[in-house]
Order: sequence, then C-alpha cells, then structure tokens
Amino acid sequence: MSSLTSSSIDVRALREEFPVLHQQINGKPLIYFDNAATSQKPRVVIEALKQYYEQYNSNIHRGAHHLAAKATEAYEQSREAARRFLNASSIEEVLFVRGVTEAVNLVADCLSRAWLQAGDEVVISTMEHHSNIVPWQMACERTGAVLKVIPLNDLGELDMAQAEALITPRTKVLSVVHISNALGTINPVKELVRKAKAVGALTFIDGAQGAVHLPVDVQGLDCDFYAFSGHKVYAPTGIGVLYGRRSVLEKLPPYHGGGEMIKEVTFEKTTYNDLPFKYEAGTPNIADAIALRYALEFVEQIGKEAMLRHEQALLTYATDLVSRIDGLQVIGQAKEKAGILSFVIEGVHHHDVGVLLDNMGIAIRTGHHCTQPLMRYLGLEGTSRASFAVYNTPEEVERFAEALQKAVNMLR
Ligand SMILES: *Cc1c(COP(=O)(O)O)cnc(C)c1O
Repeated sequence: MSSLTSSSIDVRALREEFPVLHQQINGKPLIYFDNAATSQKPRVVIEALKQYYEQYNSNIHRGAHHLAAKATEAYEQSREAARRFLNASSIEEVLFVRGVTEAVNLVADCLSRAWLQAGDEVVISTMEHHSNIVPWQMACERTGAVLKVIPLNDLGELDMAQAEALITPRTKVLSVVHISNALGTINPVKELVRKAKAVGALTFIDGAQGAVHLPVDVQGLDCDFYAFSGHKVYAPTGIGVLYGRRSVLEKLPPYHGGGEMIKEVTFEKTTYNDLPFKYEAGTPNIADAIALRYALEFVEQIGKEAMLRHEQALLTYATDLVSRIDGLQVIGQAKEKAGILSFVIEGVHHHDVGVLLDNMGIAIRTGHHCTQPLMRYLGLEGTSRASFAVYNTPEEVERFAEALQKAVNMLR
C-alpha cells in the first residue's frame, strides 16, 4: 500500500480541512493516532461554533426575539441530522446528552427507578468501557439486581455460546459495546439484541466507536437505546446523542428535573414536557449541538462505508508492519475489526513506548483505555493503542512502524 489512491477518499484534500493536523511536534510533523480517544475537528465544525457565538448566540425555545428563533432552529436542525444519522423514526426519540457516559447514566438511573428489581439481571460484556459498567453497578446496588458478564474467546470476540446461556428470562437489561475501544472488535449487536428481546429485556448499545466507524440503523438493530459521543465523530466535546425508543421513553420517569423538561409546575405537582424535552432539563449545550450537525454531514458526505474501508486498510497495513517487530503481540484479533490496533511488546513498558513515540511527533494512547476489567481478564496492565481516522495515511503508518521499531531498540 504505497499511495493514497487505494481508497475512494481524497485524503490529501481532506487533511486540508483539519487545521490541527498541520503542525510539528518535537520538530516532527504530527501523526495523530489517538482517534479512539477523540478525533480532530474539520473546519466546518470550528466555523459553526464561531458563527453561532459571533452571529446568533441566544437561549433556545420560547424566545420571542430573532436570535432565539435562529438558535432554536439550528439546534433542532441538528436533532434532525442526528435522527437521520441513526435512522431513528422520529426526532422525539433523539435526546441530546453530553456523551455516552451521560447517556448510560441517564438510562441506568431511570431503569433503576422504574424497571429493575431485586433478583433481576443486567448483562454486559467483559470488553465494556468503564462508562458502560459503573452506572449499571450503581443501578444494581440501588435495586438488588445482579450484573452478569459475557466472557471473550481467545481472539477477543464475545463468546456467543456463553452469551446465549447468560441471557435468560431473568435478564432485564442487555448493555453492550458496538465496537470495543480497546480491542477494535466489532460485536454482533443485532444478534444480541434479538436474543435479549426474545426474553423481554431492554437493550442498550454503546456506540461511542460504532457510530464513528459503522453505518447505524437503530430501527434495523431494533435496540431500545443507542448512544454516541460527538467528540469521537469529528464534533465538539460536551455533546452526544442518546436514541431511545419512544414507547420506552414515554413510560420511564425523567432523569434531571428543572427548566425545559416541564409542562406545568406548581408547588404541589409538576407535569412533564413531551419527548424529547422531558429528558433535556436546563439550558443545553446549544453551540456544540449545532456544530454536531456539521460533523455528521461531513461524515455522510464522505460516506461511512468509504471511511471504514479506508480505516480498515490502514489497520491491515499497520498490523502487518508492526507484527514484524520482535516480541510484539497484537491484542484483539477479532475477525470483524475496526481501525483500532492495540499491542504489547515483550520487555517494553507501554508507557515508555508512548513517550518515545511522542518525542517523534506521534500521538498514540497507552494504558488501560478505561477498560480495567478487560485488562485484568487478559492479564495485562495496559496496551499501546494506535487508532485511525479518515484523515490518516499509509505514509503515516509507515513512519509509525519505523518509529516504533526505533523505540523498541532504544528500550531493550
Ligand atoms: C469513549 C468511549 C466511551 C465514553 O465516552 P465519553 O465521550 O467519554 O462519554 C464509552 N464507550 C466507549 C466504547 C468509548 O470509546
């Protein structure tokens, strides 16, 4: 893989849209391979923020004046963009949240008050991010429900036979990650949702990575909840989306109380607003919600399939090059894998690898990747992780592999 023409994406032109990529770090051109932690932002997103604050900053909904109407319209257009992005059937099912972490907390909290009871079971998996573990543990503590964990096979895939055995009539919630941020594994979430629905459980998909790399169709998946964070999909931090099935959201209690989520308040009793506003108490993150739309349209214009092909080509190339390094082991060898490459190197600490690569202008992530139970399960303290985005190139992969070999030579 020697040219940029191997995919349908004009990566060279596309890189021009990302101002942050064009800089030197420690005297070397920046190679940004930490995209699974957060992606860089295209100019359209940065401009949308600037325009909002320079031209129509205003609080939304119920405003009588021009700026309020303009901000409200832009905010609601973004909700429609998110609906389309997930193929939800209506905007009432599209809630703005801070990100996946807040989405899981919202759902786990509401379900702990209106769905889960002592003895019920919540099924998650071994490869979950802390944000899809801890809120469920809190919900279990509150209700007396029990957490069950689907194990993995040697490739870092979900053990589907074990999943089958764990999903029983006692299962009230199944919450699993679409793509593992630590292993890159793409999980068969549709099949899992089908199994969970067959026993009457509610289903939550953590799409923090999935929504970035795969086309998502919540109606096709038939899940009850699906969440993603804007900042991993080329949008700002502090904004994300929670899809919730209307019939479920209507039955659940609200999460936060306050302005916007009410219909009428008296000191005796409050009635709640209609969806989606019932779940959006207080002044929301207006600017970042508006900018989210531009990121989603940016992704749609390139096309998720083309992005995935590009990123998987980088993954295959990178895996091939780094596997030649003596003592390097790739962690996560699933058959279905997105552009995330985790590895350990015998006799070399991942932290030292990260520091030496940074000296050479290369940004990767090292450590437990917010998946401590997974690391413990694998008998690892952590890994080094290179994760790819649409703006990365085969040339960068080559420089990375050379730098990694150099780092290993220095550390051994
Ligand atoms: C990043 C990530 C999260 C948490 O997302 P936040 O944006 O930090 O709320 C959850 N799950 C996975 C798989 C992630 O990659």
